[in-house]
Amino acid sequence: MSEAAGCHGGRETLEAAARAAGKSLVMDELARNYPRGPHDQPQSMCPAFGSLRVGLRMRRVATILSGSACCVYGLTFTSHFYGARRSVGYVPFNSETLVTGKLFEDIRDAVHATAKPEEVDAVVVINLCVPTASGVPLDLLPKQIDGVRVIGIDVPGFGVPTHAEAKDVLAGAMLRYARGEAEAGPVARPRQMVEGERSVALIGELFPADPMGVGALLAPMGLTVAPQTPAREWRDLYAALDCEVAAAVHPFYTASIREFRAAGRPVVGSGPVGHDGTAAWLEAIARATGTTAAQLDAAKARALPAIRAALEAAPIAARITVSGYEGSELLVARLLMEAGAEVPYVGTACPRTEWSDADRDWLESRGTHVQYRASLEQDMAAMREVKPDLALGTTPLVQKAKELGIPALYFTNMVSARPLFGAAGAGSMAGIVAAQTRGRERFSRMVSFFEGVGTPDGAGYGFREKPVDPPGFRDRQRKLRAAKAKAEESVGT
Ligand code: SF4
Repeated sequence: MSEAAGCHGGRETLEAAARAAGKSLVMDELARNYPRGPHDQPQSMCPAFGSLRVGLRMRRVATILSGSACCVYGLTFTSHFYGARRSVGYVPFNSETLVTGKLFEDIRDAVHATAKPEEVDAVVVINLCVPTASGVPLDLLPKQIDGVRVIGIDVPGFGVPTHAEAKDVLAGAMLRYARGEAEAGPVARPRQMVEGERSVALIGELFPADPMGVGALLAPMGLTVAPQTPAREWRDLYAALDCEVAAAVHPFYTASIREFRAAGRPVVGSGPVGHDGTAAWLEAIARATGTTAAQLDAAKARALPAIRAALEAAPIAARITVSGYEGSELLVARLLMEAGAEVPYVGTACPRTEWSDADRDWLESRGTHVQYRASLEQDMAAMREVKPDLALGTTPLVQKAKELGIPALYFTNMVSARPLFGAAGAGSMAGIVAAQTRGRERFSRMVSFFEGVGTPDGAGYGFREKPVDPPGFRDRQRKLRAAKAKAEESVGT
């Protein structure tokens, strides 16, 4: 395997190399957990960032990357940009250490040097594309060193389609390890654990205030919120697994959900968004936990009028398209529609799973097109076609929207950075939508003012006039292209 192989090296080539190098089981499991869609290459950041971020956000967990220096540079840069505030371990390699197996020995040495029980509970090693394709066998690492758990995972861009799903790769591996520990004997007591408490384990990275809001929704049913998945501390994994029911709020955590099920926990999809969404979710939780009808009624009576009031106090009158790769796109679309918005299109980079079926049904029955594994091209085509008052989306989509004079908001930075659930969620969305759609007329003026400037052909300096091509430039280029095509044709014959 060439050291230069990577995102652009071709998925088939890398996958075939990984299989030939003994990683068939890993590749099969990734394909089962994260089925591919219309695009087979990640269209967002390097997927491994999802796993890296989950590791870096946990207390007393060290994370080590094994991969090409350019990948590691990008991943560490991004993790510090997002406030990692701790070192990322890195085991470098070259062609020789890769081919001779010395890289594995180097990783093992690094794990031994890092696994200090007074400092960490676990060490995570992440194989990036090249070490995965080369078969670096992380499963041969010791399972624990002086009580420090060692978790090795393969997170190649040619096997994990989005960084969202890469979060599940590590979260699922940790839950599996913790479940094994809990089944083998007594484990450390989770912080803030109250004996006899019945809890709901939320799955997905949520806005920090949302779990508290969900806790308030559940309280009349005699339920509390367990530590979230992905966890923030190793012992939280035990508390999460000890729940009454797991709530797959983000519906793509396939490996994690498998662990909850293996621990005998029922799993509920969707989430408490808007009035209808909250009512349906509370009912599903009640069914899964055997909550009495009186307790369910009490929970609804406490939550639903406040949500209805929040929605009515901040109605949204706008056509909005929603695109993203967070996994919460369908929930956001539901909330917007309950507030009065027209949402003709929802695109999510995540795959379809049964945990978002209720949201998909709800949206489709109201005329929304739901596109799973949406490519950037599909998102853009939808935006061009429906001409929304506001487009919620990823960075390249927002850029394109602004070029077209359509107000747009970054899903990750703006939408995911707000509460989504209960009354707080109902009130939060209207404000940003109103502020952005008010700017539509300003956008149109900007587009007509800059018409033709800064676009590929007209890029460059020039305030009053568009830059002009040098005389004869286009003609010469056309002739050069024609000559090149002719030369290639004659080589091929
Ligand atoms: S590890 Fe990430 S950045 Fe590196 S080649 Fe793979 S997908 Fe690309």
